Amino acid sequence: MNLVLMGLPGAGKGTQAERIVDSYSIPHISTGDMFRAAIKEGTPLGIKAKSFMDQGNLVPDEVTIGIVRERLSKDDCEKGFLLDGFPRTVAQADALEGMLSELGKTIDYVINIDVDQSILMDRLTGRRICKSCGSTYHLVFNPPAQDGVCDKCGGELYQRPDDNAETVGNRLEVNLEQTKPLLDFYNAKGYLRNINGQQHIDEVFADIKALLGGSGE
Ligand SMILES: [Zn+2]
Repeated sequence: MNLVLMGLPGAGKGTQAERIVDSYSIPHISTGDMFRAAIKEGTPLGIKAKSFMDQGNLVPDEVTIGIVRERLSKDDCEKGFLLDGFPRTVAQADALEGMLSELGKTIDYVINIDVDQSILMDRLTGRRICKSCGSTYHLVFNPPAQDGVCDKCGGELYQRPDDNAETVGNRLEVNLEQTKPLLDFYNAKGYLRNINGQQHIDEVFADIKALLGGSGE
């Protein structure tokens, strides 16, 4: 079961990734974890990646792709994997096709957790934090009993600048622009499956299980 997981910020990708890897016993391969591991193990590519990151530069595609190749060649990917955060571009997706075919593998599905932008806005701008004790709330998912007041200490709740509508809107736009060509690429290949991410977390996962079939608790 070789999977790529996609979804915009706020779509609930992390939660579904956890459930998929738990239920199907495949490794969760996220770019961040992969980089950290390669750097910690001091692999030649890890050292290269670190030199770019230390200078505050983006890690070039060839290095990222090399690190993914190393990771996918490991024994624990024999029965499958869940790629998360890679590929980010069509060039990376092309490279992934190439390395998988070298390894005698293909992608089974690209799962895209699909959520309307306006709903993502609500989800991503709803966070509130207590000025006194740091407790976090969410206007939709975990609202305080009284508007703007912390349940635990009575402190005042505020919104982090990162969570304001303009910043979140920009972040979503950038992500959308980046993701669109990738979705088109995978759609043309016949791998893409859109999952409705506007349902309860359990229902989203039920749809994923219906797609993947087999085990899954
Ligand atoms: Zn508080």
